[in-house]
Parts: sequence; C-alpha cells; structure tokens
Amino acid sequence: MASSFSEAKEWVAAALGRLFCGSCKSPKKFEPINAIVQRHKPKSDFEYISFVNVLSSAALDVLVPGLTDHAFALGKLQYEDGKPVAGYSSILTKKILFIRGGPYSTHRVCSECKRVLYISVGEPYLVRSSHMPSVATGQGFDILVAESLFEQQRRTFDSLKKLTIKKIPVLEAAKDKISKREAQLIEAAQLGQFWDQN
Ligand SMILES: [Zn+2]
Repeated sequence: MASSFSEAKEWVAAALGRLFCGSCKSPKKFEPINAIVQRHKPKSDFEYISFVNVLSSAALDVLVPGLTDHAFALGKLQYEDGKPVAGYSSILTKKILFIRGGPYSTHRVCSECKRVLYISVGEPYLVRSSHMPSVATGQGFDILVAESLFEQQRRTFDSLKKLTIKKIPVLEAAKDKISKREAQLIEAAQLGQFWDQN
C-alpha cells in the first residue's frame, strides 16, 4: 500500500538509525513515535507513512476494545510547520503475529539489527497458537483484528474511509518449510522480545 501523501523526507532520514533500523526499517524500541508529515491531511482512516501506522481517532476507537494496557504506544503527528495533525496518531502494537506463507517463503537475517526477517510467498495465513491477541500488527504495516472484534465493531469498520479489509485464515499447521527453531527465532523478533531487549 503506497501512502497517499508524501513523507516528510528530512524527518524520515533523521529517524532512520535513531528510531528505525536503517536497513529493514523496523522500529527499534516499543515507545510512542512522534512523526512529522507533510502538509496534506491523511485521506483515509489508516495509512502507513514515515514508517509508522497512522490511525484516525475513529479507527482507533474500533480497536480500543481489543487493545490491552501497555500493549500499544500512540505517538503524535505534526506537519512540517509544527502544527499538529488533528484527529490522527501513530500507533505501535507490542503484539505482532507472524503471517506465514507457502513452501517458497524464505527468511534472512537483517545485516544491521540482526532481526530474522521472513519473506512470505503465497497466500497469507496465521498458525493457531494458544495466545492470539484481538489486535496485533503483522510483519510490515498490516493491523490484524480478531474476527470476533471485527464482527462486534462491524458498523464502525464499514464507516471507515478507504480501508482494505482482508480475511486471513488461521491454520493448524504451517505450509512453509521453516523449521521449528527458525520459526521460534522469527517469532522472538516478532513477538516483542526484540523491543524489550533494546
Ligand atoms: Zn533491521
């Protein structure tokens, strides 16, 4: 998904290395990210911009019932002239679910932060686990919402602008060729341990 307004290039350049891994762009720490955006107002209720997920307050409201305390960090957004972007925040969730792919999916180690990165090929799905939060982030910038919460908040979800909603199946076993050990390493990076150690 390409952002519908240009990123504030200077802020992004300064944030790379300080807030985000300079190579894979993953956030370095679990803390609010105050980002600078250019003058145009976001055109939808959920966008990925300046390496952060940007949510309108209406979009945040539908997620709130599924967000547990301390599991998400909201940051402020401002325009290049210093004025706040009213009604929008940046959001990081501490819960990340590992979206898997088919047998051609692969993985690599980020040369800078050493995080194990998974490159999904084929139809996305989740593997069932004992703890699946109602709201989580996928690798990258998708936000994952449990079907129960989605149904409960359906009307509000329908009213949000330009939101692409996809259903992702939850399977009992993985279809890729990632070993259990590799999956554990990838999950360790995905599930918050990476952030806690930094
Ligand atoms: Zn990295």
